[in-house]
Amino acid sequence: MNWNWTLLDAGRFKLDGGSMFGVVPKGLWSRFCKPDEHNCLPYCCNCVLLEKDEKRILIESGYGVGWSDKEKQMFGMDESTILTALVGAGIEPDSIDTLILSHLHFDHAAGATLLPNAQVVVQKQEWEDALANRSTMSKTYLPRVLESIKDRVELVEGKTLYTDGITLTPRIGHTWGIQSIEVETDGGTLCFASDLIPDHHHVGLAFSMGYDMLPWENKMTKQSFLEEAYADSWTLVLCHDITHPVVRVIKNEKNAFALEPVTDFSRNQ
Ligand SMILES: [Zn+2]
Repeated sequence: MNWNWTLLDAGRFKLDGGSMFGVVPKGLWSRFCKPDEHNCLPYCCNCVLLEKDEKRILIESGYGVGWSDKEKQMFGMDESTILTALVGAGIEPDSIDTLILSHLHFDHAAGATLLPNAQVVVQKQEWEDALANRSTMSKTYLPRVLESIKDRVELVEGKTLYTDGITLTPRIGHTWGIQSIEVETDGGTLCFASDLIPDHHHVGLAFSMGYDMLPWENKMTKQSFLEEAYADSWTLVLCHDITHPVVRVIKNEKNAFALEPVTDFSRNQ
């Protein structure tokens, strides 16, 4: 039996457009993403609920709670979290016993404090980098979050068949320890590639983010990832995309990779 999946939106927020597009000039990215008066762009925190038999696993947890009014305003955070998303989908949050995180940046991992029953699965490399605060961003690995999960973290190393039908794959670039999650579903492989391709505007190989620790490696990883996803017809969930959360990889008229929206999926937000 395969995994059933549901898309959950664990909160809206805004990030600086320049940071999101790294070396891509604003003259180019602002043609298809219109920034607000503060040069920010709107994003969401897409998560995926997996269900099979009595088992429930969550991929990602969004930015969670515990933010000051100033921070909420700065990031344009709304009041929704992974808790409101789960309740909206009719899921008892305490029934989640496993939370798989792609990496430990706050907008992916901070919601883990809201799911105290969940074992948190992450790459060992990512855990060690988070504890050492090894990042060009000073406040993305949050000590309060790491403290909350330290006694329930389950570390994996390298490519791992985590459980039947769920594979974790390192995708080095955005961080040293970031991983994608591949899930066997009735519709084929569903992949959560996280900040390797945060939204559909980042399909181009040069479209790295200013937040990427290793832009060159990210570019190489993205190329091999897109080849694999295209060859095997994967369905991708994009972690921060509001308008195109679920896509498939196609080739355009110039024979370059592009992303085509998928609309026939279940969604709760
Ligand atoms: Zn990140």
